[in-house]
Amino acid sequence: MEDVIIIGAGPCGLSTAIELKKAGFNPLILEKGCITNSIYHFPLGMTFFSSPDKIEIGDIPFPTIHEKPTRTEGLTYYRRLVEHFGLRIHQYQPVEHIYVNPHHFEIWSTYRGKKQIFHSKYLVIATGYYGKPNLLNVPGENSPHVYHYFREAHPYAGRDVVVIGGKNSAVDTALELSYVRANVTMIYRRSSFQPSVKSWVKPLIEAAVQNGRVKMFWDTVIEEIQEDAVIVRHQGNKRKIPTEFVFAMTGYRPDTSLLQSAGVHFEPGSNVPIYTEYMETTVPNLYVAGVVICGKETSKVFIENGRLHGKQIVQGIKKKELV
Ligand code: NAP
Repeated sequence: MEDVIIIGAGPCGLSTAIELKKAGFNPLILEKGCITNSIYHFPLGMTFFSSPDKIEIGDIPFPTIHEKPTRTEGLTYYRRLVEHFGLRIHQYQPVEHIYVNPHHFEIWSTYRGKKQIFHSKYLVIATGYYGKPNLLNVPGENSPHVYHYFREAHPYAGRDVVVIGGKNSAVDTALELSYVRANVTMIYRRSSFQPSVKSWVKPLIEAAVQNGRVKMFWDTVIEEIQEDAVIVRHQGNKRKIPTEFVFAMTGYRPDTSLLQSAGVHFEPGSNVPIYTEYMETTVPNLYVAGVVICGKETSKVFIENGRLHGKQIVQGIKKKELV
């Protein structure tokens, strides 16, 4: 029987584990992929929006020569922290179900196809948001040339590519593709870029649209994705835009299925779990950390503020242990 199990080895899960270690616990982390699996799946050339001091955890400085760290630096930093603090992590260990017993949790998981059951007194869910893309729900979305994640631009050099959406991921993707001279068409349902597009990125995309490196369709919605085109509607008119590849950069949302399987209550009409100042859900001893708490509003919690949840959780658990 474990004292504490944490599901998810992203920055917020790791930060919670470090705070628990500092408080004398020895938590076990179960992670469906590798350490900081989401960051690993970010675009290869990605640079964090935050400065290094805002994403460091465990009070260990994040060294970088850049103003903003790169993806590779992030992977190195968090990986080294795991070693430094001796964190126990079972990687490639997806959790499928949580059973709530009177005095402990039963956590059902698989490793290489074999069922495994873990038992724990406390449980922290820190599963992030990057695993579940927002779907367009249009015909053709499941085709192999439609992607919800962008890795790198090179394979699309000189090809016809459509990018759907207009916020940070869509803008970054369209710019990267334009740099390798893909023939980029952006399709956005609004009439302008929104303030949430980072201030240092917005002028770049605006310039790319102005000089025609990125063709822009404002106020346009997708109706269908075909093998060689997307069908869109703009001001009541249908139009066919030929393309070979489609990047639907429509954002992501937390997968709340584990919280649901444990019987956690949510804010009415949303997938925002109800939690206390100690991040404890309506299921006693079950805590949440990081962006899994924010429902559809995934830009409200990020590493900068989610890394602080671990300290609140430790306070809550310590209070219970003193009783
Ligand atoms: P997002 O902010 O949720 O934006 C999703 C985009 O897709 C929006 O433009 C949205 O339109 C559009 N969209 C969603 N559903 C749609 C639908 N059914 N039909 C048509 N369009 C649809 O997602 P994101 O850009 O992936 O960003 C997610 C988080 O990651 C944010 O916190 C962002 O700041 C962060 N991020 C960080 C980095 C970095 O650190 N370098 C890079 C990229 C993103 P509306 O605009 O109308 O809502």
